[in-house]
Amino acid sequence: MFSETRDKCRVRSNADFTIPPFISFSGVILKVRNDGSLMPKLTHSMCISAMTDKLQQGDEDFVYILPRNDDMLWLGGLVQPNQWDRNLTLDYAPIRRMFDKIKEFYPPLRSYGDHDVEEVLVGLRPARRGDICLEWDSICSSVLHNYGHGGSGVTLSWGCASEVCALIDHALKRRKLIYVSRL
Ligand SMILES: Cc1cc2nc3c(=O)[nH]c(=O)nc-3n(C[C@H](O)[C@H](O)[C@H](O)COP(=O)(O)OP(=O)(O)OC[C@H]3O[C@@H](n4cnc5c(N)ncnc54)[C@H](O)[C@@H]3O)c2cc1C
Repeated sequence: MFSETRDKCRVRSNADFTIPPFISFSGVILKVRNDGSLMPKLTHSMCISAMTDKLQQGDEDFVYILPRNDDMLWLGGLVQPNQWDRNLTLDYAPIRRMFDKIKEFYPPLRSYGDHDVEEVLVGLRPARRGDICLEWDSICSSVLHNYGHGGSGVTLSWGCASEVCALIDHALKRRKLIYVSRL
């Protein structure tokens, strides 16, 4: 029984990979100090978005500056499709452009040089074509999918977690009903 289910799952996996359901976007954050030594300490977040439907081509037209609790500023953002390299530095032209644009947006940051960037964080935002997937697997009935949140995984996490709980609750109640009806 188990091996039969596993084989079915494998067949499904192979089939899914013929048309990749994902597109991976990479994202970059630059971490700099926010202790008041290079400019007055920032206490509020700033964000400007000029994102358009050019996203598929690697749109970089948005800027955010986020003060964090540990006297650090997170500077972003960069969105690039199908960029898998996570070892990027300020020498990478799109990151250089991003840093310049952030300084243009908030001129006090011009006092920060390359050596003031303490870390270049590169992460992936795997997204699903169309929409996120939050559903029971059609073949492996004990598998509940919840993936493809792209760059909104934190924002969507509460709603998705609540939906996951509701689906599991519903499934358990259904199972209990079937069990009771067989008694
Ligand atoms: C630059 C950037 C900016 C973003 N900005 C936003 C934003 O503004 N708003 C928003 O809502 N979302 C944003 N996101 C997306 C958000 O960060 C993700 O959607 C979210 O973190 C996904 O959460 P997760 O717990 O599913 O996965 P993750 O946060 O990726 O956590 C997975 C964890 O599992 C660990 N792990 C992986 N493989 C293994 C293994 N084999 N064994 C053990 N541990 C393993 C990893 O180390 C990691 O700690 C951003 C992402 C990036 C990259």
